[in-house]
Amino acid sequence: MSVADFMASALHHPLYGYYSKRDPLGRGGDFTTAPEVSQMFGELIGVWCVQSWRHMGAPDPFILAELGPGRATLLADLLRAAKVEPGFLSAARIHLVELNDTLKEKQRRTLSDIAALGDINVEWHDHFHDLPAGPLLLIANEFFDCLPIRQFVRTARGWCERCIDINREGGFRFVVAPDPLASDRLIPSAVRGAAQGSLVEIGAAAMALMTDIALRLRHDPGRALIIDYGHQQSAVGDTLQAVKNHAYHDVLSDPGEVDVTAHVDFDALRRAALAQHVTVTGPISQGDFFTALGIHARAESLAKNATALEKTDIASALKRLCAPDQMGALFKVLAISSPGLAAPPAMGAHSQGVLLGTHDRS
Ligand code: SAH
Repeated sequence: MSVADFMASALHHPLYGYYSKRDPLGRGGDFTTAPEVSQMFGELIGVWCVQSWRHMGAPDPFILAELGPGRATLLADLLRAAKVEPGFLSAARIHLVELNDTLKEKQRRTLSDIAALGDINVEWHDHFHDLPAGPLLLIANEFFDCLPIRQFVRTARGWCERCIDINREGGFRFVVAPDPLASDRLIPSAVRGAAQGSLVEIGAAAMALMTDIALRLRHDPGRALIIDYGHQQSAVGDTLQAVKNHAYHDVLSDPGEVDVTAHVDFDALRRAALAQHVTVTGPISQGDFFTALGIHARAESLAKNATALEKTDIASALKRLCAPDQMGALFKVLAISSPGLAAPPAMGAHSQGVLLGTHDRS
């Protein structure tokens, strides 16, 4: 089978898929995402959303949607920060795209905890294209890396698909398909001439989703914010990885028990969106994005009312999210906007930081 079919089964097989039932997040799980590191992440995205909503002409109602919301931590922090603009909260109709029932239940609980904000009505969908029509703000953090990729190897015969087969012991092994691609149109032009033995990844599912998002934003006013780990330019290299208990794991050994992902090719996403004539901004690094949004001021203001231990936590979260040797450089931020909207906040040379109050999560 192709690497894409392997990933799709390993992650979403209805009985044995990694994402079918479990909650993989947090200390007791397999990996920790940025919203779980600090409330600052979701709060500043909240500020970004409020400003984007104003750029859209403050539509009421509008769809506030998230792809793969995990425990809905980001969304809860976003909504709490958006209290500064009551019109935004009353206009927002929340729609979540999620397949995992365990996480759906956690999302329901997280959001009912902040029901004090008002009547928050949430609807769940299986796919992006099930979202209702209307003005849209869309968030996706660590969602695109879960989408299946195909891999191709440059051989003397041409570009051949890297596949997965059974070895003598009944385990899995990588093999290269005997027949090359009839045409190398699928391979990005930047890497088409790569040396023999080079491996290239094609995020076909990610590009198809990006095309759907862009098509939607061409017709309905709105903006999408995509944050993930990945590379700015399409390049050769194998980024398929598996993670379990906060450590790398062999990709083929325990399908269904480990998170299998790949780095996102932001260059390919940009190209897919631009082909639909929408405005593409970025990618910029996560560190630059949150610095421009005012994360340092936010950290200082949270630290004012904090205990010594909490101060240490805030400082280490700031470093984890923004330092180039942590999440700051590998993680990138891409915005897709309907044609004609003002430039997205915090993504240009002239963006302003934004100050929030000193309130904590409680
Ligand atoms: N955004 C969250 C969680 C990231 S983990 C955070 O930052 O904490 C990936 C999330 O995407 C999980 O909620 C997972 O269940 C969901 N997911 C993965 N593949 C999906 C798919 N094809 N369709 C819908 N949800 C998916």
